[in-house]
Amino acid sequence: MSKPNVLLVPYPCQSHINPMLQFAKRLASKGVPATLVVTRFIARTVRFDAGPVRVDSISDGHDEGGLPSAASVDEYVERLESSGSASLATLIEEGHFTHVVYDSFMHWVARTARGLGLPAVPFSTQSCAASAVYYYVNSGLLDAPPPGDAGARSRPFAGLPGLERWEFPSFVFHDGPYPALTAPALAQFADRDVGDWVLLNSFDELEHEVLDGLKRHFKARAIGPCVPLPAADDSGDVDRFTYGANLLDPEDTCIKWLDAKPPRSVAYVSFGSNASIGAAQMEELARGLLAAGKPFLWVVRAGEEAQLPRHLLDAATASGDALVVRWSPQLDVLAHRAVGCFVTHCGWNSTLEALGFGVPMAALPLWTDQPINARLIEEAWGAGVRARRSDASAGVFPRGEIEQCVRAVMEDEDGRASSTRAAARRLRDAAQGVLAPGGASDKKLGGFLEFACAVMD
Ligand code: UDP
Repeated sequence: MSKPNVLLVPYPCQSHINPMLQFAKRLASKGVPATLVVTRFIARTVRFDAGPVRVDSISDGHDEGGLPSAASVDEYVERLESSGSASLATLIEEGHFTHVVYDSFMHWVARTARGLGLPAVPFSTQSCAASAVYYYVNSGLLDAPPPGDAGARSRPFAGLPGLERWEFPSFVFHDGPYPALTAPALAQFADRDVGDWVLLNSFDELEHEVLDGLKRHFKARAIGPCVPLPAADDSGDVDRFTYGANLLDPEDTCIKWLDAKPPRSVAYVSFGSNASIGAAQMEELARGLLAAGKPFLWVVRAGEEAQLPRHLLDAATASGDALVVRWSPQLDVLAHRAVGCFVTHCGWNSTLEALGFGVPMAALPLWTDQPINARLIEEAWGAGVRARRSDASAGVFPRGEIEQCVRAVMEDEDGRASSTRAAARRLRDAAQGVLAPGGASDKKLGGFLEFACAVMD
């Protein structure tokens, strides 16, 4: 039987490269050659530690430029397609690839691959719940409540809870933030060859009802979590964890800072690689964290620094009770015994990483799939506490709410903190179990390779 040779094409940003690189590493660990495609700019400027995975590049029309700014996403997506399809075609023609695994909303990758006779398999980097909302809305099976009807919820459907309009993944709406992303996001799972697998970065214990619903429509297979985790039987101190591609330089000094803190005493705060929370939210956050009285490690990216209320933090940073970094080695931070709470925007990678290391969360979701992920964290898994704001869909999370969420996760007055931590740890064990040899996600990876071989024969 001939062997697959897989080309993987993520959308070129941190949170899509990470899980697809991790999936590529798992393919490679099964002896399958895997090549990850990034843009020329990223390939030139980022030091990859991809192990056996090859890294190759295509043009996004910005070979000399930087990463897209939030203001230019629509324009970027169009340039990526027009420049990327030509250079991807060349890459495919010059390589010996048998399959393309592509980021599920990048339909042009599938068209290019199939045009050259290669099967193309979609990979979703979001929660199954968010993927399911896109699929059901696109298929006419689920409607969002109308605009202006605050508090109204959609009907619970196929494992999805009733959702307020603002909790729907942002790209569902044609008047959403980036109109160029609406059509590709909605059609993510409509555009596939019949019988193809659809790879989802989740696992059964997390989202089994939603997965069961999706399986009635297509071959949805949860092969995650695509997160580098300690092996299930690891004990004692663990090694460093990395996906192998940091688009920003992590400040390792924070690990030394954590080393000096007692177990589970620190709140780790990060809003991922994209979000700008703004000056007003930063001030509420700073005041809420200080009022909670726990040491905190806060990631504020370089572009956001000007909005940080440094005067509020001076005393805490001087005494070593607070540390602000521009980018952290997040997996190592979450693996660190000093971390007792993750104050997170609930990006899907951050969510899976927190669960993978058993860290309970204080959830401050902003947009895209974050509100639905926050519902899962609090209601479905009990692994965290969700912050509320007076206008559910907008505005800032107030300081008192942030303080209470951090306390609820870290202080055990009513037993909630220990049950939240126990839930996160149960899911950590489940995550390690599904990835271990013979675990559910490992078996599905084997099944995917059998499927891939069958398609070739
Ligand atoms: N991340 C990191 N260091 C940081 C902040 C984030 O390495 O200081 C990584 C994090 O581990 C995750 C990714 O960036 O893999 C963020 O992805 P997520 O889906 O959570 O959020 P997004 O960036 O899409 O909003």
